[in-house]
Amino acid sequence: MLELLGQTEIHPTADWLYQQLKKEFPSLSMGTVYRNLNVLVEQKLIQKLPFGSTHDRYEANKNPHYHLVCENCGCVQDFDMPQYTEINDQAQKMSSFNISRHRIDFFGICEKCQCKNKKRKLKGIYNE
Ligand SMILES: [Zn+2]
Ligand SMILES: [Zn+2]
Repeated sequence: MLELLGQTEIHPTADWLYQQLKKEFPSLSMGTVYRNLNVLVEQKLIQKLPFGSTHDRYEANKNPHYHLVCENCGCVQDFDMPQYTEINDQAQKMSSFNISRHRIDFFGICEKCQCKNKKRKLKGIYNE
């Protein structure tokens, strides 16, 4: 599973991992996938990106980084933008929390979906 996560950049969901691993291990159950994922997260070998229950995504890239999330197809990409470490200090001052890190997801429309939209619009023009 760790190997699979290291090979992909799509930030897969547990279900995607299950579908992939099932090909190789037909007796695999969804519960086993979740159990293994939780162990890997606990051991800090992978990172979990909470998007709500079954939409949670996992990745092997443990360096702090931001994400680009497409509101149309739901794809998640790594975004190599410099980290705003000063946000942590600011949050530390404003809260009673002991801040260790922060997470930012930028939402919008990915390149692929933009292309599809353009094509659709062009088609519309031709049809008129
Ligand atoms: Zn998209
Ligand atoms: Zn990532």
